[in-house]
Amino acid sequence: MPVPPAPVAAATSARYVVFDLDGTLLDSDEALTAPFVSLGVPRESITFGHVVGDECARLGLELHDYLDRYDVAAAQPFPGVPALLDRLPRWSVCSNKHPRSGRAELARLAWTPERALFADAFDGGPKRLEPLLDHLGLGGGEVVFVGDTAHDRSVAASVGAVFALAGWNPRAEQVPGDVVLEHPHDLLTRPGLLDLLGLPTSSATSG
Ligand SMILES: [Mg+2]
Repeated sequence: MPVPPAPVAAATSARYVVFDLDGTLLDSDEALTAPFVSLGVPRESITFGHVVGDECARLGLELHDYLDRYDVAAAQPFPGVPALLDRLPRWSVCSNKHPRSGRAELARLAWTPERALFADAFDGGPKRLEPLLDHLGLGGGEVVFVGDTAHDRSVAASVGAVFALAGWNPRAEQVPGDVVLEHPHDLLTRPGLLDLLGLPTSSATSG
């Protein structure tokens, strides 16, 4: 019998949500994989959660060849994600995705995060929450970061943000201490995780 999740301590209650994009909001594994396969990479060699330019370099490919083959219409939201986003007055994205692909997908889905930081926002390295927090004027302790990878977990920990695992992605691997969300809606209903009452509303702007 599964063990019920422990309640998140009240002290960790956050007021602002930042999402990873691929594998968290978007069921994008196949969309991300297809360009590599079309460029001759064995499917089993492909891993997820990296800066796409780094993964291209690792596989000996040119980034522009990958991007030219990436279908920005292919990835669909995970079930329950659109309804969750409709409920959130403010949210942002922090992603390793190339901005050309990521912004095209946000536009296609008519998603309007307050800020969306992609791979060009992190000084050539993997994503970090610090630049986003600076833009938003928030401290890490005011944020819950929802992601699907170990890197996402470490990104949250490095700024003292609450990490919540996108457990609706079957590839997401839980480790002890994780807050695991089985369904996107759990972000709103999990006791002590997100305090929307303290969340000021503001007009959404793309960033
Ligand atoms: Mg991801």
